[in-house]
Amino acid sequence: MKIVVTGGGGFLGSHLCEALLRRGDTVWCLDNFSTGAPENVSTLRGNPRFRLVHTDVTAAFDVPGPLDAVAHLASPASPPDYDRLPLETLSVGSRGTENALRLAQRHDARFVLASTSEAYGDPETHPQPEEYWGNVNPVGPRSVYDEAKRYAEALSMAYRRSLGVDVGIVRIFNTYGPRMRPYDGRVVSTFVRQALAGHPLTIYGDGSQTRSFCYVDDLVRGLVAMVDSGHSGPVNLGNPSERTVRQLAELVLTITGSPVRIDHRPLPVDDPARRCPVITRAREQLGWAPVVPIEEGLRHTVAWFTDRCRPPLDGASYQARQEPVGT
Ligand code: NAD
Ligand code: UDP
Repeated sequence: MKIVVTGGGGFLGSHLCEALLRRGDTVWCLDNFSTGAPENVSTLRGNPRFRLVHTDVTAAFDVPGPLDAVAHLASPASPPDYDRLPLETLSVGSRGTENALRLAQRHDARFVLASTSEAYGDPETHPQPEEYWGNVNPVGPRSVYDEAKRYAEALSMAYRRSLGVDVGIVRIFNTYGPRMRPYDGRVVSTFVRQALAGHPLTIYGDGSQTRSFCYVDDLVRGLVAMVDSGHSGPVNLGNPSERTVRQLAELVLTITGSPVRIDHRPLPVDDPARRCPVITRAREQLGWAPVVPIEEGLRHTVAWFTDRCRPPLDGASYQARQEPVGT
C-alpha cells in the first residue's frame, strides 16, 4: 500500500510510519514540525519506500500517483502545546482535515482520522463508550483542541455520507512511550523526566483524577488495523486499565528508583476528572486489544528517557533538546 501519514514526524506518527514500512508499505510523511521533530524519523530516511515532506497541511497539498490511504494525525496534542498554539490547532483540525479528506477523495483512498478521547470532554458517563456524546466546554482553554477534533469528526462523516469517502475515525486515549518530548507537558513524559532528574513530581490537583494509559506499540497496532478495515468508527483505542495520577506518580517513582517527592500544583481549568475507554467495538470490529501492561511500557519509556535526559555530571542542564516549560 501507499499511505500518507500527516503528522508523521510526531510521537505517534513516527511509530506509525515505522510500522507501515516494516510490513512493506510505501509511506509519505507530511509534517511541519510544529510539535514533532525530524529526529523522530531520521532512521527511516534511508528507506527507499519512505518520503518526508516538510509541509503545513493547512495549505492544499497533493501526492503523486495512486494512493491507498491517508492517516491524518497532524495536530498539536498535548495541553501545553495546544494552549501555546490555539489558532494553529483549530486550523489543522478544520482546514488541515479538509485538505487531507480531499486528498483521500481525489485518490479514492481510505481516510483515517486520529480523533481523541477529549471529544468526550469531562465525561459524565463512565467508562466512555463511543455512543456517548461528551461534555465539552466550547469556550474553555481546551476547546481549541476538543472542538477542532469534534469538527474534524463531523467533517469526516459528512465526506463519508455525501461524497462516499471511505472514512474511519479512531478516538485515541492517553498514549505514552519512547519519542514523547521530555518537555511536552504530558503527565508520563513529565513524571519520567522529573524522576530521572531527581526533581519532585508535579501532581496537578490532589492527583485523584484518572486516565487510562496505552503503550504506543499497542496503539499503533490499532491504528494499522483501522487503516486496513472498512469500519467508519468512531472506535475507541486505549487501554481500559484506569489509574489515578497519584498512582501513576508512585509507579514512575518505583520503576526509576527515585525518592518520593511530590509537588502539588493547581489543577488546570476543565481538566477531566476521569477517563477510561470501553473497547468492545475495537475488540469486535478490529480484533484489537492492548497487551502491554503499564509496568512494562513504563520500563521501556524510562529506558528511552534515561538515554536522552540524564543530567550531565555538573547537573547544569539536560542533554535533551527541548523547550523547558515548567519543571
Ligand atoms: P505530536 O505533537 O507528537 O504529533 C503531531 C504531529 O503533527 C507533529 O509532528 C506536528 O509537527 C504535526 N503537525 C501539527 N500541525 C501540523 C500542520 N499544520 N501541518 C503538518 N503537520 C502538523 O502528537 P501525538 O501524540 O503524536 O499525536 C498525534 C495525533 O494523535 C494527534 O492528532 C492527536 O490529536 C492524536 N491523539 C494523540 C493522543 C496521545 O495520547 N498521544 C491521544 C489522543 C489523540
Ligand atoms: N498532570 C499532572 N502533572 C503534570 C502533567 C499533567 O498531574 O505534570 C495531570 C493533568 O492535570 C491530567 C493528567 O495528568 O489530569 C493527564 O495529563 P496529560 O496532559 O498527560 O493528558 P490529558 O489531560 O490531555 O489527558
